Parts: sequence; C-alpha cells; structure tokens
Amino acid sequence: PVRVRFAPSPTGPLHIGGVRTALYNYLFARQQGGQMLLRIEDTDQNRFVPGAEAYILDALEWLGIQIDEGPRHGGPHAPYRQSERKDIYRQYAEQLVLEGKAYYAFDTPEELDTMRKRLEEANVPAAQYNAITRMQMTNALTLPVGEIKERIESGQPYVIRMKVQPKDEIRFHDLIRGWVAVHSSQIDDKVLVKSDGLPTYHLANIVDDHLMGITHVIRGEEWLPSAPLHVLLYKYLGWQDTMPQFAHLPLLLKPDGNGKLSKRDADLGGFPIFPLEWTDPRTGERALGFREEGYRPDATANFLAFLGWNPGTEQELFSMEELIRAFSLERVHKAGARFDIQKAQWYNQQYLKAQPDAALAEQILPQFGQNGIELSPEQATKIVHLLKDRVHFAGEIVNESAFLFSAPTTYDPDVAAKRWNEEAARAIAGFRDALLSYEGTFAAEEIKHLLAQTLESLGIKMGKVMQALRLALTGLGAGPDLMMTMEILGKAEVVHRLSIAPE
Ligand code: GLU
Repeated sequence: PVRVRFAPSPTGPLHIGGVRTALYNYLFARQQGGQMLLRIEDTDQNRFVPGAEAYILDALEWLGIQIDEGPRHGGPHAPYRQSERKDIYRQYAEQLVLEGKAYYAFDTPEELDTMRKRLEEANVPAAQYNAITRMQMTNALTLPVGEIKERIESGQPYVIRMKVQPKDEIRFHDLIRGWVAVHSSQIDDKVLVKSDGLPTYHLANIVDDHLMGITHVIRGEEWLPSAPLHVLLYKYLGWQDTMPQFAHLPLLLKPDGNGKLSKRDADLGGFPIFPLEWTDPRTGERALGFREEGYRPDATANFLAFLGWNPGTEQELFSMEELIRAFSLERVHKAGARFDIQKAQWYNQQYLKAQPDAALAEQILPQFGQNGIELSPEQATKIVHLLKDRVHFAGEIVNESAFLFSAPTTYDPDVAAKRWNEEAARAIAGFRDALLSYEGTFAAEEIKHLLAQTLESLGIKMGKVMQALRLALTGLGAGPDLMMTMEILGKAEVVHRLSIAPE
C-alpha cells in the first residue's frame, strides 16, 4: 500500500509552499487508498521554534488535510517526533562505520574553516569534504587505529561522516523529473551524526522513511540536490529494494515569475504567505494568514492544488473529493508555478458564490454586530444575496453594505453632473409620491412594477433615470440591484432618501 509522509521541521510557520507539499501528499495517498503520516523533523535543536509544531498541525487541519499517523494522532510507528527517536538512528551510523561506509572525523571547526578557505582560494567548486580532501583531515581514515579509540575514549568531539566513493554515478528515477544522474564528485562526505550525538536530517530522514514503510517521497524541489545522497544512503544501508520513489515538486515563483517566492514578496505585495496567523515568539512579529485574510479553506486548497498541477481539462473548481479523484503525479509540472494572488481571490469568490445565502449570513452576522448593526437572520440573508457576487471575501459584504445603513450625505459628483436633470427630478418626485400612497407588499418585484407604472404615466423611459435614482438612494454611481436594495431599505427609508436628494 502507498504510504507517504509530510516531514516538516518546526523551524517556523509553514509557508504556503509547504502546505502545497502536504496537500499533494494527501491527495496522492487518498487516491491510492494509502496512508499519510506526519513526522516532525526536529533534530536540529538550534533551529527549533516553540509553537511551530502546533501551528503546522492546525494549518493542515484547517485545510482539511487528514493525517492518518502523527504526533497528534499516534500510530504504529510512534513516536513521530524525531527528537523522541534519538536512540534509533545511531546504530545505523555505527553499522555503516563497521562496514567501512562511514567514518569518525575529529576535525575542529577551525580546521574545517581552514580547508574551506584553502579550497575557495583555489576556486574548487562543489563538494568539499570528499575523497581527496578527507585524506588531509583528521579522521578515522587518516589516523592510526589506536588513536581513534583513544580520542573517542578521552571524550574528544567527533562526527560520523558518510564515505562517498569517488568516480561513482548515482542515478534514480524521479516521478516528475524523470531520470536524474549525479556524479559522486558532486557529493560531500555528509555528516550523519553530529558532535552532539544527534543525527543530521539526512540520516534521520532515511532511517525513518525506511522504518515507517514510506513508498513515495513527495517534497519540494529544494530537496532535489539531497536526493542522490539519500539514494546512496539507501544503498549503503542495504535498503535499496524498498527505497521509496521520489517526486520533487516545482518551486513556487514570485508573482512576476522571476525567482523563488519569498516572505518579502508577500509583504510587499500585501498578500499572505502563511495559511494561518503567526506571531514569531522571538521577535513578536505578526503575520496574517490566508484564514485571517478571509480565504476559505476549500478555496485555498483548490488554489494550491493548481500551483504546479492541472487536471488536463477546463475544469477549475474542485472539491477535495474531486481533487483526490483527479490528482496524479504525472500531471505535476516540472516548471516553477507562479504565485498569483488574484487567482486565489478568484477561487475564493467562486466558493463564496456557491454558498447558500443563509449560511453566509449566519457567518457574517457577528461582524455586523461588531459594527453596531443588529440584523435579523432574514435581513442579513437579503444583504448577502444582494452583494455576494460583488465581493471576493465574505467579510467584505459588511463593508460593502454600509450604504444600506445610513442615507447618503454626498453624491458622486461625476454621475450627478451627467444624470441630474429636470427629467430625473420629475421621476424621483413622482416615484416618491407614488410610494407614499402605495399600500402593497414592499418587495423587489412589486417595487419594480410600481416604478415602471409611475414612469410610464410620466412619460419617462426607465433607462434614462435609473442612474439618478441610484444616486438619490445610495449616493453612488454604481452598485447592486436597485429593486432589491430598495426592498432591504424599506419603504420609509426609500421615501426619506428620495425626499432629501438634491435636484
Ligand atoms: N524536514 C525536511 C523539511 O523541512 C523534510 C524534507 C523531506 O521531505 O525529505 O522540509
């Protein structure tokens, strides 16, 4: 069975690219009838940020990404936090040492620095601690056996490094990128166990993926350079037969398509880059998320699904269930995906429109309350109906409806100049008088009928005075359906507004 994992490091809030990675993992797992687990990769304790793990879990929950196994859910491979699995990793590194595939290295930070500088001066690119340089460094391959033991026993700090063979080629098949081949001269003798005894990301990641039965590694393109090393580790550990398949997802690009999306683009562009609000515990800096900006989780998921994938049809709106059915890794693009916030807004609008008026009304009633406007659910429902096609976010309805709650004090001067004429004044006065003696139902249909009748008797064409009427009623040059607007205003208010309109 397919088993995938989302393996974030709790070094801060999950940005939107990470959320997309989680989403693709989820869609793939569900479609294949498999499972998805969440593993917290927190072996780098210097970069640990309190609150980040809870944030990640909350964000996935908000989007409707359901985890089968993880720190909040438990599961057969618990614990799912690498910091709680410390003791597992070391034996594998020791095994590699015994088999001559890894070695102890005692270099001090100064020695490493000197080597790095020397190579830089000589313009040596790429791998640094490798088959050539390792022979000049202080490690188990250059020290006499007795001395290695002595150094370890005397408590001298050391790391365990992987021994990468020179003149080797590492090949693997990526489900999105096809065959990838890398020469071993491009790969360092990466540290597997750090001097604090903790595993590095590379070791812990491979050991856990193996022990947790992961079949597919779906992750961001930034991990592609690490993949050959991982493939080598699977081989060294004798696990190549059950090695997972790799799928490296395309980068998310800046809105203009130039370069990788960053938090700075988000700040400058005034759009969110995190799913939920995040306050940095170290700096107190606060950033709003998609949720707080008013995006719906279903619209956000739909938007994210299309950042790097398409179904090959014209259909753009997909529920989570539909995404699960339609998704395939084969249709994930190689090229970077441009982050277009307008598209996100468009998605939100589509989902908003599809909501029943009453449900939306219930959702935004409290917001009206906060603005000091008490409405019945029926009134709120009518307002939603009037305005929901004109906004991207539910919350905007509250602001957009301000004209319903106070009579205009100013009138759009451009429209007034063009539309306020003698005919308009007659129409407004005539309609007001007709309303004063009208006893029937005050609803959009009936209002329209009354208006049509009145204008006809005055010999005025409706099309010529509608804008003036709107101006009198709302002060605005454009807006939603005027008959419905009047219904919501109520007869008395309409009469009042028609009476105070300057002519
Ligand atoms: N811990 C890595 C991260 O923060 C996981 C990368 C991977 O999926 O292998 O993204």
